[in-house]
Amino acid sequence: MRDYAHLIRHPGVENLFRALEMAVLSTYVGKPLHLHAQGLRGTGKTTIMRSVRSILPRILRIKGCIYNCHPRAPHCPAHRDLPVEAILELGQEEIVMPFLEISASAKIGTVVGTIDLERLTAAEGAKAVLLPGTIPLAHRGIILVDEINRLADIAPELADVLLDVMGTKPGRIQVEETGLPRVEMSVTVSVWAASNPDEDPGPLEEIRRQLSDRFDLSITVSRPGRQDVVKRILFGPSRSAVPQAAPDFAALAGLVPRVKVPEQIKDLVASIYVDFSLESLRGVEAMVQAARLSAALDGRTEVAREDVLMVAPLALEHRVDPATLGRITNRIRTSGENSGEVAGQRPTGVTANPERTPEREEQRGGLIRRLGATLRSMASGLSGNGGDGPRAPEQGDGEADQPGEAPHGRQDDLNSRRTGVRQDCPPGPGAGDPEVRAPLRPGREILSLDPEDWVKG
Ligand SMILES: [Zn+2]
Repeated sequence: MRDYAHLIRHPGVENLFRALEMAVLSTYVGKPLHLHAQGLRGTGKTTIMRSVRSILPRILRIKGCIYNCHPRAPHCPAHRDLPVEAILELGQEEIVMPFLEISASAKIGTVVGTIDLERLTAAEGAKAVLLPGTIPLAHRGIILVDEINRLADIAPELADVLLDVMGTKPGRIQVEETGLPRVEMSVTVSVWAASNPDEDPGPLEEIRRQLSDRFDLSITVSRPGRQDVVKRILFGPSRSAVPQAAPDFAALAGLVPRVKVPEQIKDLVASIYVDFSLESLRGVEAMVQAARLSAALDGRTEVAREDVLMVAPLALEHRVDPATLGRITNRIRTSGENSGEVAGQRPTGVTANPERTPEREEQRGGLIRRLGATLRSMASGLSGNGGDGPRAPEQGDGEADQPGEAPHGRQDDLNSRRTGVRQDCPPGPGAGDPEVRAPLRPGREILSLDPEDWVKG
């Protein structure tokens, strides 16, 4: 595995590094951020994505829980119905944030999990036992899918699973076996994918548009354009080169809930949605989430226009045509120059919409107000708890803080990670074989916005 700190950051991959750091921070605070890196073969997409394993923060879980139950928000079949005392009795442990991969040739049972039929039909002590799948094992961490376009093409059933996992935050996973009660578990995982749109079977948005839209951010990765950069990639950086330090995710996590979105930025985002007729609300949701993370990564507690300008192309590239994206970034760039724009008026320099009528204007005002309310609730959602489950936070012992948040005194561990010490996440003692009980609760939806509902309203 390449060391994240020593990879060369040229302009063609800069946005990918930034997006990955935003995604790790977001995952750490309990809100997935799904990324899709697109580019030609050999541009280093997956190398960079995999290198993130060397900088992942550590998370707290119930001791030995292979599904990474947060002690304050247990969600797995074995722990979610236990009383607080029993959870405390089990103890807790720290592991490195999970990072697992799914290939296009993976079997659905290994990805989702299966019912262990052997145990179910055993002559003595027969019971239904869940065999864990990759996705539930990656709870509170990251799943990497290389060649997602190929997966969508040859394994549509896996694409369906990803749609479920990425459809809500947290997502959900279902294990089904004929004649047995269906098992459902909520999962909070960030899905990171890579693909080469120029290779067979073509761009993901042409194969499975719905799946393409599930990605919060799409990052186009390109080749290095300069000779000295290629030289550094081939022969390593010069001795004087300073390795790029990884963000201190544990420290920044506390900042994320404090990042505020100023009123004029909310108006700007809302006006972009309405004026450019964005098809999906996910685009503006992703823009706000990413802008807040961008501010937090820089140690700020307020979203700036520059954050929006930086993240807008990533959040919208796969959702609008290039010309529209150009007009949108121009709108963001010029929004600060004309204060009238914050009230939803068009800034100077942007072509007026010839189809505007007083009725449309009124409708648009209503939409902006409703979207403003939606964005406010999204902001509180992102700043809320880790959202792993429905348990109230009073169950902890004072050590665990918020779900997804680091316990105190983790700095040393993080530093040891940065020096390249790998600490994998083995299933702990007592892991596995949680008994299946039915009926099971479905995962809770933190964010359930159906754009169609309120656009029509
Ligand atoms: Zn558990």
